Amino acid sequence: MQDDADRLREECGVFGVFGHPDAAAITALGLHALQHRGQESTGIVTFDGVRFHSERRLGLVGDAFSDERIIANLPGASAIGHNRYSTTGETVLRNVQPLFSEITGGGFAVCHNGNLTNGLSLREGLIRDGAICQSTSDTEVILHLVARSRKNRFIDRFIDALRQIEGAYALVGITNKKVVGARDPLGIRPLVIGELDGCYILASETCALDIIGARHVRDVKNGEVVVITEEGIESHFPFPPQPMRPCIFEYIYFSRPDSILNGRPIYSLRKAMGMELARETQTLADVVVPVPDSGVPAALGFAQESGIPYELGIIRNHYVGRTFIEPTQSIRALGVRMKHSANRAVVEGKRIVLIDDSIVRGTTSVKIVRMMREAGAREVHFRISSPPIRFPDFYGIDTPVRDNLLAATHDLEEMRQYIGCDSLAFLSIDGLYRAMGEKERDPRRPQFTDHCFTGDYPTPLTDVDGTSGRFGQGPKQLSLLAEVG
Ligand code: SF4
Repeated sequence: MQDDADRLREECGVFGVFGHPDAAAITALGLHALQHRGQESTGIVTFDGVRFHSERRLGLVGDAFSDERIIANLPGASAIGHNRYSTTGETVLRNVQPLFSEITGGGFAVCHNGNLTNGLSLREGLIRDGAICQSTSDTEVILHLVARSRKNRFIDRFIDALRQIEGAYALVGITNKKVVGARDPLGIRPLVIGELDGCYILASETCALDIIGARHVRDVKNGEVVVITEEGIESHFPFPPQPMRPCIFEYIYFSRPDSILNGRPIYSLRKAMGMELARETQTLADVVVPVPDSGVPAALGFAQESGIPYELGIIRNHYVGRTFIEPTQSIRALGVRMKHSANRAVVEGKRIVLIDDSIVRGTTSVKIVRMMREAGAREVHFRISSPPIRFPDFYGIDTPVRDNLLAATHDLEEMRQYIGCDSLAFLSIDGLYRAMGEKERDPRRPQFTDHCFTGDYPTPLTDVDGTSGRFGQGPKQLSLLAEVG
């Protein structure tokens, strides 16, 4: 666990339903289940057979859609919805998704999980060509590319647009006749198909199907475009086939533990990561303590494999609000203690081994170790159920720039000293792949996207400045960013 500033943040959850009388209410519930994928803003667009309706808000799903009158403003049997945590484009209402536009043939709204690695360059070309952009989000490029396609059928124009974008995407869109979904050629971001009362549903994770009692039909394949109409569901594969490389961090942290991702149950995989970690890192300790909540499954696996008892040495306060309740720096400094407190009865006088899913900047790990020592722990060992994060992400995850990644600028011993623990160890990349059920990582064809550990970026990075390695920092992109503000 890290506090908001010291965490990799997944950007965005998407949801869509076609032909259901309660489309808006179902979408709101689905988004509620996907709240962990984005807390900055949320939105729903519906079509009632004649008109499109849109409700978009900054803030959480519960605050936005718990009022029945808002849902009543969203009539129609088809809907799409989105939760956002921004990567490209600041947190303002004009960037809240779904983004909608009237185009030839009627309206089209789209929402996106992921990040386009050539979105800024495409946008520059569109603006130079006279396009008028309503937002600063990379997703809007897709609206323009569909609108400008010379193809006749909507699906051909949509595919035309997909062929021009790079990077990671799980997309859900709605027109006056259909709901569409698409997953990037590597399947980096997840997208699943569900069915409820004979209606098809698209969602980022199966937990969004569970909450509404929908059946999990299957996952959208990498490079697949699905079209849902009254006739049912049809598939298109517009890209040359290639092996899937889903983001391995979805399994480590992003997806909810109760979700099934690409046929793999998240909870059991995280336990397996903890078991591999115990096998790889012999640890002498009296008690295993998870850093809640995300460290819990791996800690259970670690305890089972090592035989060291598992105890809740850290208690999480689930009612901590956002930063606005931290009025002064001294209160903010208490940050971690607002969310977590040491369970002295468990840790006092003990050699404890803390289990967490990852370390980003390391600032929160420092506070957690200090809290354990102040609660009387005799020794504090730290074990991380993923390899060191050494490279930034450009595929929809808000990672600090490389210089702010602790493992990119410190070796293991320096990290141990910085965090202040007695020993520190990370799961190896091959240990992670074994926990995922693979023999080991195949360096020629890695089975997952794992570049935050390996630096092996799976797609071109057009908008990434080769020198600084920063996204949108190339001379071309800087001028555009200056332009869009
Ligand atoms: S860098 Fe790759 S593996 Fe890491 S979070 Fe991003 S997409 Fe996932």
